[in-house]
Amino acid sequence: MSNSKQQAQELIDFIHGSPSTYHAVNNIRKELNEAGFEELDLRDEWKIEKGGKYFTTKNGSAIFAFQIGSGEIEEEGFQMICAHSDAPGFKIKPNPEIEVEENYIKLNTEVYGGPILNTWMDRPLSIAGRVSVKSNDPLYPEHLYVKIDRPLMVIPNLAIHLNREVNEGVELNKQKDMLPLLSMITEEMEKDNCLVKLIADELKIDAESIIDFDVNLFEVEKGSIFGLNDEFISSPRLDDLAMAHAGLKALLSVGASKKTQMLAIFDNEEVGSVTKQGAGSPVLRHILQRIVFKLGKDMEALHRAIYSSFMISADMAHAVHPNIGEKHDPTNRPFINKGPVIKIHANQKYTTDGDSGTVFETLCKNADVPYQKFVNRSDLVGGSTLGNVSTGQVDIRTVDIGNPMFGMHSVRETGGVEDNSYVRKVFTYFFGL
Ligand SMILES: [Zn+2]
Repeated sequence: MSNSKQQAQELIDFIHGSPSTYHAVNNIRKELNEAGFEELDLRDEWKIEKGGKYFTTKNGSAIFAFQIGSGEIEEEGFQMICAHSDAPGFKIKPNPEIEVEENYIKLNTEVYGGPILNTWMDRPLSIAGRVSVKSNDPLYPEHLYVKIDRPLMVIPNLAIHLNREVNEGVELNKQKDMLPLLSMITEEMEKDNCLVKLIADELKIDAESIIDFDVNLFEVEKGSIFGLNDEFISSPRLDDLAMAHAGLKALLSVGASKKTQMLAIFDNEEVGSVTKQGAGSPVLRHILQRIVFKLGKDMEALHRAIYSSFMISADMAHAVHPNIGEKHDPTNRPFINKGPVIKIHANQKYTTDGDSGTVFETLCKNADVPYQKFVNRSDLVGGSTLGNVSTGQVDIRTVDIGNPMFGMHSVRETGGVEDNSYVRKVFTYFFGL
């Protein structure tokens, strides 16, 4: 297997094991632990030393890993890569069981972020997330991970015979059309509580001990490499676990340098980032502050460190579509496997400017990695991302980049095998500076 194909398979395996933000963060935590990073609790007093490797988590769904440089932090600053752990989809509502004509049980769901709804239909789905159970301290319940590794549900399409206009486009109602079918009703089943009971059985605990849950649907089938020459990746959640994973691999592959390296994986990018674990919160600023102060420095040093830092805000980008190329800018045409994309927006939904764009282009050139540019067609409103939200909290020089892909927010997205290796290479070069 080629090196890039092997790296693509590593990404597919990581995403397959990370069907919720909690699982993604826990998998990153495990790799950091194995690499000798020390976990710091946000509530404890931190002890930080030059050359030390640390990480902390917020809400179990955001994670911040850093390796303290040997230089003076106010002169060397932070080398930062940020990405996000969440993906659009469906959360399970409380009291989710809905009986249908005394025969079926379906589950009530709520849409999270902006998924392409029709891609979720007719696919075997299951559930994953965090379950909160009673503990001795009423302010701190115990949290358990749940991931049911078998097909449990489907959101069925309507037959074409019952809707002859289906191929002219169908409006899907989020409350009516997107509820997954879980079960037939049987005489012995506890209809009102079957989801909690299922989770309790899976976790081998009493159903009564489960107080609450943050659980989402996921597609059961694993991602794959495809294409005539094995050049594409088909997987759920490439946006943005592909960038989170590349940042992690880069951090783990470099030793300590003079600069302090930081990987920040936020939650809730898909719903605007303004949560306590999102890029719109002060969490990153507080972590930077604690690091600088715990190195024995003052506020002046913190400000100098921030203004000596550089951030790569890494979130996936749109490749020119093979069937609908006219949706893209006429002169900036990013293609899959032609390298990471620098995102540019005149009205600053992306943070890139001539200064930070030049930095990233130079990083790519020095790392021998091709790069491309993305600008929206002027008559289309594009998405936004982490960079501009995060700079509202910490005003660091930032560039917005991401790998080109098709079908962003589909349950199955398509990316490039080579692009995955390219971005790992340039991230590794950046952290190694
Ligand atoms: Zn994203």
